[in-house]
Parts: sequence; structure tokens; C-alpha cells
Amino acid sequence: MPHKMQSTSHRSRVKLHAKRFQKGLSLFLTMMLCAALFSLTGCSGRSSSSDDAANTAAASIAEAGGAANENAGEHDALEASGETTGNGASAANAAMRTAAPPLSTLAVPAYSSAPAVVINGDAPYFTEGDLAQGFFEEYAPLDGLGRCGTAFALVGRETMPTEERGDIGDVKPTGWQTPISKYDFVDGKYLYNRCHLLAYQLTGENANVKNLITGTRTMNVKGMKPLEDDVAAYIERTGNHVLMRSTPYFEGENLLASGVLLEAQSIEDGGAGLRFCRWCYNVEPNVGIDYATGANWDESPATPEANTGSQSDGSEQEAVRTYILNTNSHKFHYPDCRGVKSMKDKNKQEFTGTRSEAIAMGYDPCGICLP
Ligand SMILES: [Zn+2]
Repeated sequence: MPHKMQSTSHRSRVKLHAKRFQKGLSLFLTMMLCAALFSLTGCSGRSSSSDDAANTAAASIAEAGGAANENAGEHDALEASGETTGNGASAANAAMRTAAPPLSTLAVPAYSSAPAVVINGDAPYFTEGDLAQGFFEEYAPLDGLGRCGTAFALVGRETMPTEERGDIGDVKPTGWQTPISKYDFVDGKYLYNRCHLLAYQLTGENANVKNLITGTRTMNVKGMKPLEDDVAAYIERTGNHVLMRSTPYFEGENLLASGVLLEAQSIEDGGAGLRFCRWCYNVEPNVGIDYATGANWDESPATPEANTGSQSDGSEQEAVRTYILNTNSHKFHYPDCRGVKSMKDKNKQEFTGTRSEAIAMGYDPCGICLP
């Protein structure tokens, strides 16, 4: 499995320092992070005794924490199905992980114009058991219709990539349309993006089919990306870790998700630094969507005859801005992207123009900064 190897290689860059764990943490947190260390050791060191130690430590923490598993009936899907990347401790702990609640209990308001809305007072539905997991990264297997399930992981500097993302053009998540759906009024023209449930910029998981759904441009860039950016910025600032769960909701037999519930909570400071629970709508303004299949159609207000063309009111003109091109990988970036910093100077080229022009020149948008 390529993605397993990928995340293992990211873990090989682990830079955990014991002193980080001792900054006034409670006994609970200290024990939990010890478990994380043990699981890392188990991952690279392949010592079965340290795996056992991690399991034991994690189990006792869950008990000490009350193991308040309120969703006992709901974690079966994750437990039964979850594929764990990484280490033995995670596999054993999978039984203690829960799933997000069903759509009916989320009370998602009807879409109006905000790409994402607060759910449950912005409090994730994590249990003490979820929060005491240590390192794990888990992607539910595809269901009978080929649809993704929950993606759940503890993310930190160790799991974040510094390289540009490779090509994911071969992945066709459920609801994907061929030929590809294009609208002049959609940012970048393409209605659908291959949308990572857990962002590439946080996990390094790229072409993992269990981490990619068909998502509208608006959900990907305006709904999920600002939240993912918040998590990345928090991690870069503090070096702390964040528990993240990304759950796509498919109603009935629909092949296109209605939306994604994105939950996150920082670990070392108990959520004080970062905590949210948001619903990201899988919608695109002025596009009608059949969620059963992903089929779609133009619903923009009728354009007066005099105003034909894609620039009917001037506001739809694409912004001209400066991008950084990688002439080797043929990706383009925002100038402040982490991928630019790791780029060789000889491959770096500045470009000022529109996004469409960059694409027309044969460049693909970077997967970290999503220009
Ligand atoms: Zn970039």
C-alpha cells in the first residue's frame, strides 16, 4: 500500500523532544503523550514489547479518563473497518475510537451563503478515549458503493509534508463527472475538486482513495481550506498536536456527499489553542446538483441578452496575481506556500497572471496552498 509507506516516511522525520512534554502538563496529558512516544518507538523500532507497553499505557489512560464512550453503538463502523496506518498500538486502540454522530443529530441549517457553519457550539464530538489515542492515522475503507468514510488522525509537525503533492488525476471518487463539469463563473472553472478529507498539508496523504471525495470548489477552498489552514498555522506556531476527524455524509445511496463535518481539537493545551466543529456544505452557488449521481446544471440567474459572455457584470473576471511556478514539477503556488520554500531555485519562476492562464500554460495547482 503506497500510502502506508508514505506516512511511515513522514514519521521517520519525527522530532519529538521529551522536554516538550513537561511544560506544565497534567498527569493525564503526560501519560497520553508517553503513549504517543511509545507508539512512535513501536513504529520505527519494531519492538513488540514497546508496542505492548503503548497499548497498556493507552488502555490505562482511557480508563483513568473515564472512557466516556457515549457513542458506544456508533463506533462499530470505524472499529470494524478502519485501516490503521502506522503502528500496532493504534490498531489496538481503534476499539476506543468513536465516530461522529448521524446527520440527523447535527441539526445542520439549510445552506444560505456561508460555506461552513458552526455545529454543536463548535465543540467536537470527541470522547476522552478519542483524545487519549496517541499517534494514529485511520481511513475507513470504501463502502459497497465505493464511497469514503471517516478519516481520523492525530496530526502534528511529524505528519506534515514539505514536498509538493504529486498527481492525483487518476483518482475518480464517487460522484465524479466525465466529461468534467465546467462553469465560467466557478473559481478556476471546474465545479468539482478531488477533495482531501484530511488535508494533504496536514497528513501528507495524497492519492489515498480513502481520503478523497468529490467536492465542489466552494467546499474545498472556501469551506474546508480555511479550517485546515488554521490547524496548520496552530501546529507550526506551537509544535503541538491536533486531533482531527473528517466525516463525509452521504444521504441514502447518494454518490455525492451532502457535506463534510470537520472536527479538530488541540491536545497539549486541552483545546484552548484550537477547537472547532464545522459543517462544510458541498454546494456551489448558482449550480444545481443531483446528489444521487453528481450530475449538475447551471442555475445562475438569467443573463440579459445584451450581456452575453462570461464577463457579464465584471465581478467574474479572474484576479491577476503573482504565482510561483515550479518548472520541473509543473505546479503553481502562492508565494507564501511551504512548498515554495523547499523548491530548488533553478526550478522557481515567478508568474503574474490569472489562475486559468497558469493552467493553460500546463501548470497544476499545488496541493498544499490550493491556488
Ligand atoms: Zn503551494
